[in-house]
Amino acid sequence: MRTPVIAGNWKMYKTIAEALDYVEGFRAKEADGVETVLCGPYLTLPALVEAAKDSAVGIGAQNMHWEKEGAFTGEISPAMLQEAGIPYVIVGHSERRALFGETDEAVRNKVKAALTHDLIPILCVGETIEEREAERTQEVVRTQVVEAVRGLSSTKMTRVIVAYEPVWAIGTGRSATADDAQNVIAFVRRTLADQFDQQVANQVRILYGGSVKPANIDALLEKDDIDGALVGGASLDPESFSQLVDAAV
Ligand code: PGA
Repeated sequence: MRTPVIAGNWKMYKTIAEALDYVEGFRAKEADGVETVLCGPYLTLPALVEAAKDSAVGIGAQNMHWEKEGAFTGEISPAMLQEAGIPYVIVGHSERRALFGETDEAVRNKVKAALTHDLIPILCVGETIEEREAERTQEVVRTQVVEAVRGLSSTKMTRVIVAYEPVWAIGTGRSATADDAQNVIAFVRRTLADQFDQQVANQVRILYGGSVKPANIDALLEKDDIDGALVGGASLDPESFSQLVDAAV
């Protein structure tokens, strides 16, 4: 069976002091049976790793470069994250794709580099509203998934966490319905079965993201193929994030 994952994506919110306040108030220590992840801004990560070391909370970055080192001003490498004891990294978030020009090829390089450095990539895919209205959701999501995982071994594939995040649902308060999310996520699983095999597809955790909050998490988690959530806005408050983790226990 797949262990559910509840991952918070703080985006560009929280100073180091605010991050430390948050983990103090956050009670995921007893949350057995669910993998809890907090992805903060880079500067907060060492402090978060230290603060969370005796808890069940895993810490993640929101992005990284794929090269080990080099002349890439402003970038952070997978080796740096690995050395800092950060086990997770979000890759291909729609904000990175749309605002920072991240291509499918860059996303593939990052997924591969993360796995090489023993990091768990949380690979984000999802269609825009125009693509959905043009009934291109499956085509877009399929291309993003296939391009990102091309060339991975089956063993490496099973370590990837996929997050289906329709762009129109992110930060808008307008979540996909549980049925819509289940349909696309089941399609992602079939895509993985085509690319690898059914056994691999059955092991990969696939999350839903986009306006997840305590009021809609239960309906999402009830669905067979939805293994958890990637949460932006509702992860900024420790009380609402705790409620989301509790819902997955
Ligand atoms: P949201 O963001 O929960 O605020 O919609 C989700 C995400 O961007 O991962």
